[in-house]
Amino acid sequence: MISKVSTIEDTKGLLGMLPTLTAGVPDDIFITTDNARCPKSEVYVKEGDYVRIGQLIGMRHAAFFDQPIHCTVSGTVVGYEKHYHRSGKMVNFIHIKNDHKDELDPSIKPRSDEEIAKLTREDFMEILKQTASVGLGGSSFPTYIKFNTKAKIDTILINGVECEPYITADHRLMLEHPEEIVEGIRYLQQAFDCKKVLICVKNKYDDLKKVYRSFLKRFEGSQIELCPVGNFYPQGWEVAMIKSATGIEIPSGHLPSEFGIADFNVSTVYGIYQAVKFNRPVYERNISITGDAIRYPSNFVVRIGTPLRNLLDLCGGYTDPEVNKVFILGGPMMGASLPSDDCIITKTVTSVIVLNETPSVEEPCIRCGSCMLNCPTHLSPKLIMDAVKAKDKEKIKQLQPLRCVECGLCSYVCTSHIRVTDYIRKAKIFAKMP
Ligand code: SF4
Ligand code: SF4
Repeated sequence: MISKVSTIEDTKGLLGMLPTLTAGVPDDIFITTDNARCPKSEVYVKEGDYVRIGQLIGMRHAAFFDQPIHCTVSGTVVGYEKHYHRSGKMVNFIHIKNDHKDELDPSIKPRSDEEIAKLTREDFMEILKQTASVGLGGSSFPTYIKFNTKAKIDTILINGVECEPYITADHRLMLEHPEEIVEGIRYLQQAFDCKKVLICVKNKYDDLKKVYRSFLKRFEGSQIELCPVGNFYPQGWEVAMIKSATGIEIPSGHLPSEFGIADFNVSTVYGIYQAVKFNRPVYERNISITGDAIRYPSNFVVRIGTPLRNLLDLCGGYTDPEVNKVFILGGPMMGASLPSDDCIITKTVTSVIVLNETPSVEEPCIRCGSCMLNCPTHLSPKLIMDAVKAKDKEKIKQLQPLRCVECGLCSYVCTSHIRVTDYIRKAKIFAKMP
């Protein structure tokens, strides 16, 4: 069964070797008003208004933060439409008719190196707050909140591990934009007054190691180092990456900052560079469109708000249109499945994987123990599943399902094809009940 886990890595293949393509910006763009983190929102524009790239057009509200909504094309507000969001739910999107003039909001303008050199950590936080920078590895957590720590940070980790199968968008971003990424890292060093930076990549990526070892020679004495880590899943999970890179084990319920560590996904660092250097919100991102149902899997730079169907067309459509499809937003291990391709690319969509459906029948648990052996958080998924089936709330709580990071390994390794992770998700709901 362990060998099944080791084969997770074998799916990236050729795609990681092909350059990123720029997807044409469609005539119609859709900007989500609310999302899973921000259930409420206000919209500042109305039908008929002219809008520009980077213009503030609304505000999302979460329990303890607000998140500005920016326009990603220039054009005219048409109204609202419902489409699927990466959460797997239908939500409201503002529909904007693109005039293809790419007019920028006046707030997008470059900062000089002299201005940047004077920025304090509070200034960086304000810039990232106003430009709505979030974790672009999929977390969508506001970046400025990570900066708001009293802990002394002595190591910054850059997460370029991208350990889920199929996805290579970060890999290509790192190969194609080392200058911008290292500049973003230097902003982090300045903001945290922290010299030591480890850029974590999988040890097997010789191309990345070559590019960064060579590029970092320009910054000798800067203490920015390449840090090859394991080739296994879930090496990109922050706790596993920190352990491999520094030897520090972050106990459940604790933050990396308590151990002097701040970690950022590499796409987020690229976004930080754009925000600080140009005062530019994230209005486009790198994304992988892949899977065995796609005729020409590709990595794209995509305008936020692009319908997935446009990208599927650019990939040459489906290999076999007659076969039912499985749509996964994010990686196949942790991503959300969607009932259709009527979905919009938002800021935190790292990838879309489309697979030809291969029906598998769940069989009874044979108590092989594989799910327990492979759980990176040392849970007992089989026992949690049993407790969920028995609706035994006390037992569920004792088994601590809230420590689960939803990596999906327990389902992946299950000999009986049981969707064990679905039971763990249900257990989390039970565990939160009084
Ligand atoms: S999904 Fe949760 S329970 Fe299952 S292997 Fe991953 S961390 Fe463990
Ligand atoms: S749930 Fe699946 S992996 Fe876990 S013990 Fe049962 S058969 Fe094995």
